[in-house]
Amino acid sequence: MQLGNLLGNELYIKRDDMIPFSFGGNKVRKAVLFFEEIDAGGYDTVVTYGSGSSNHCRIVANMTAARGMDCIIISTDRESDSINRRLVEDFGGKVIACDVEKVAQTIDETMNELTGKGKKAYFIQGGGHGNTGTRAYDLAYDEIKYYEDAEGIRFDYIFLASGTGTTQAGLVCGKRRTGDECRVVGISIARGNPRGRQVVIDSIRDYTGSDDSADVFFDDGYICGGYGKYDADIEETIVETMRKFGITLDCTYTGKAFTGMKKYLAKHEIAGKRILFIHTGGTPIYCDWIRNR
Ligand SMILES: *Cc1c(COP(=O)(O)O)cnc(C)c1O
Repeated sequence: MQLGNLLGNELYIKRDDMIPFSFGGNKVRKAVLFFEEIDAGGYDTVVTYGSGSSNHCRIVANMTAARGMDCIIISTDRESDSINRRLVEDFGGKVIACDVEKVAQTIDETMNELTGKGKKAYFIQGGGHGNTGTRAYDLAYDEIKYYEDAEGIRFDYIFLASGTGTTQAGLVCGKRRTGDECRVVGISIARGNPRGRQVVIDSIRDYTGSDDSADVFFDDGYICGGYGKYDADIEETIVETMRKFGITLDCTYTGKAFTGMKKYLAKHEIAGKRILFIHTGGTPIYCDWIRNR
């Protein structure tokens, strides 16, 4: 949908936060495809990894609960008072906490233990990273194309919050596949370059076999101190976007990316363009923020 003018550009937003399951978001889009594989494979347990405030873990726990399956969350956060963690617990997800350097080992041990007990467990990488997650946003690009065709427009830029970069990788693949020429700009919410950008390139290569990286733009200029960190500009953007449009942004992902997008447009003196912001979800994190403010 169209939102209005932003620094002399026409701003549109794709509301993936409105996907109708468990507060929506990009993790639902990815999980739907992971669970196609899980449902087809006769699994009884899903194991995944995420932080104490992870949207991905909430969605996976909700999807397993809906199926009566077991869910195990490996996390470096033993305790968290976030709404997402609270929901994971309500869904019956079991949290196994470990130190950050023991994550890979804990995942292996947990998977082996489940196999030893005669369970059939499926592992989803943190954030729904991997080809299945990439495919979710390659396919999502068709919705963007459909919208462009219906409205008779083309987007010049697409902005989004980039974490593991899977969502961005999928969008770049979709853009290439449909022949669109817009610039997809991932605003990093945590990772610095060159690694952040390289992970996006690696995801594209894993998925398509192509090493092409000329259209991979991963900007680490708006990280604001790291994952989950935010400043007054981000808070102001969140307040303003809620007041003006009734749209929730959060300080870890979408609020950071939206603020980064504004600064990017100003810095690069971009005007007179059509810009699409992908709202990747995270409403429970907005609620944590407004409640504790
Ligand atoms: C996980 C997440 C992202 C980042 O997605 P990646 O595919 O890991 O880059 C962005 N926004 C929200 C709300 C998320 O939960």
